[in-house]
Amino acid sequence: AMASETLGFQAEVKQLLHLMIHSLYSNKEIFLRELVSNASDACDKLRFEAIDKPELMQGDADLRIRVEYDADKRTITISDNGIGLSRDEAIANLGTIARSGTKEFFSQLTGDKQKDAHLIGQFGVGFYSSFIVADKVSVLSRRAGADATEAVLWESDGQGEFSIMTVEKADRGTAVTLHLRAEEDDFLSGWKLREILRRYSDHISLPVQMLKEEWDSEASKQVKTTEWETVNQANALWTRAKSDVTDEQYKEFYKHVSHDFEDPLAWTHNRVEGRSEYTQLLYVPKRAPFDLWDRDARRGVKLYVKRVFIMDDAEQLLPAYLRFVRGVIDSADLPLNVSREILQESRDVRAIREGSTKRILSVLEDMAENNAEQYAEFWGQFGQVLKEGMGEDAANKERIAKLLRFASTQANSATQSVSLADYVSRMKEGQDKIYYVTGESYAAASNSPHLEIFRKKGLEVLLLSDRVDEWMLSFMQDFEGKSLVSIAKGGLDLDALADEDEKKRQEEVAENFKPLVERLKASLDDKVKDVRVTVRLVDSPSCVVVDANELSPHLLRMLQAAGQ
Ligand code: ADP
Ligand code: MG
Repeated sequence: AMASETLGFQAEVKQLLHLMIHSLYSNKEIFLRELVSNASDACDKLRFEAIDKPELMQGDADLRIRVEYDADKRTITISDNGIGLSRDEAIANLGTIARSGTKEFFSQLTGDKQKDAHLIGQFGVGFYSSFIVADKVSVLSRRAGADATEAVLWESDGQGEFSIMTVEKADRGTAVTLHLRAEEDDFLSGWKLREILRRYSDHISLPVQMLKEEWDSEASKQVKTTEWETVNQANALWTRAKSDVTDEQYKEFYKHVSHDFEDPLAWTHNRVEGRSEYTQLLYVPKRAPFDLWDRDARRGVKLYVKRVFIMDDAEQLLPAYLRFVRGVIDSADLPLNVSREILQESRDVRAIREGSTKRILSVLEDMAENNAEQYAEFWGQFGQVLKEGMGEDAANKERIAKLLRFASTQANSATQSVSLADYVSRMKEGQDKIYYVTGESYAAASNSPHLEIFRKKGLEVLLLSDRVDEWMLSFMQDFEGKSLVSIAKGGLDLDALADEDEKKRQEEVAENFKPLVERLKASLDDKVKDVRVTVRLVDSPSCVVVDANELSPHLLRMLQAAGQ
């Protein structure tokens, strides 16, 4: 064996380890879920690589995960015969965090244990959760295809460093051994470990095995035999009938595919037959990930072909505005050797994307209709992303429009809770337009002087201030036959809403102010296009508007800031 080398953890890993040990203590049994989840991922990766290189299986194609404990040594070992880790992979994957959203995560930490535990959960706990219960962790691994003498032993006490050494290992795959902390003896029980595995890892599609135990009457206790038994259902959860899957199992599966810590908000599970045949199990998360706005972020729908894992993060399976969706799509039609390039061209993939988009929209519609509170939660997290759909998905524009929520002068709150249908149902007699105003913030929009006449007349106005709003509005001319009109633009025709007296008064006013208007026009000659008498102001003496067919001042400022 080569001499051992000691390396330091990346600073972020050190910080994460410290936080995890101190914040996730009440949830410590999740280490087992994380390690089994990694073992399952490793087997998926091997099965995928073996499509092109069957020799990687080395005559051992029965992939499985094993969990053992040694009460005397006080260790738990989770092993798999999956892809394994090379020395370089071990250093990179078990010593750093190379993930988008890392910066945002660390910047949001507060020092408050409960809040931080939440954030860590969202960020993903993963392998490092081992150190919640262990004061030393050893990872012995041999990469598929590597020689027995090229295995690697990674060890750490989770403080600040890890050691790495080239060693021998007889078989392919990874064995993670936890040396339990003094107070964690509870886990050294076949009963306890089985109970945790059934709770957290039942959805794993590979067999998770433990040594069978029998009652020894002489010793008066359970003793281990040498026979392995499978303790989970060991079939892919999405292939089961809906009636055979409990909510708990759906939720645990979600945590496995999404690397999320929290339960999902909703899910949809369907087998689709017809032109294209596939199974979809798609989830709407409760909370936006740290990297929702990061263009390189992983998207989170895993592609399987006939139950064989093909790739994470198959962005062709859903449009970008649904990038928050997590889950699995298993196609019966695609070839096993499908590449990202092929995915881009494939008609089957197009059918899957269209079908999955419709499903997710149905889930959201159902939520909006039957569970307004939950929908509000969804909107708060993902509403801005869904708005992108107005421009991105012309085919579903009308459905998406119904799902939009806005702040408005009716509610007088920054919370976006008013749907276009709500607005329309409250329209005044004679009103045939949907009015809105945009601003850089809710405060700016709700204090717009343009609102005065609308407030006075009791006309509701939508208050838009998200970054995507102006862009979205350029794809939204009307809703259910009612045109959307900015109140900051010229030519606002409120006549239909004025009564006879008011109209007469307006005409008189216009007549009386003619000389003033002429003088203003003359003196502002090269600065404005026109000067008009208006009835749209109540408290302010004057306001600047743009022509109905021109860019709004807010969009103009955005474009100018972008150097255009
Ligand atoms: P994640 O699973 O979200 O990628 P983890 O912290 O759980 O993050 O694992 C980090 C990385 O370590 C994995 O992405 C993988 O590359 C590697 N790894 C962990 N466990 C195993 C294993 N049993 N076999 C092979 N690689 C593993
Ligand atoms: Mg993991």
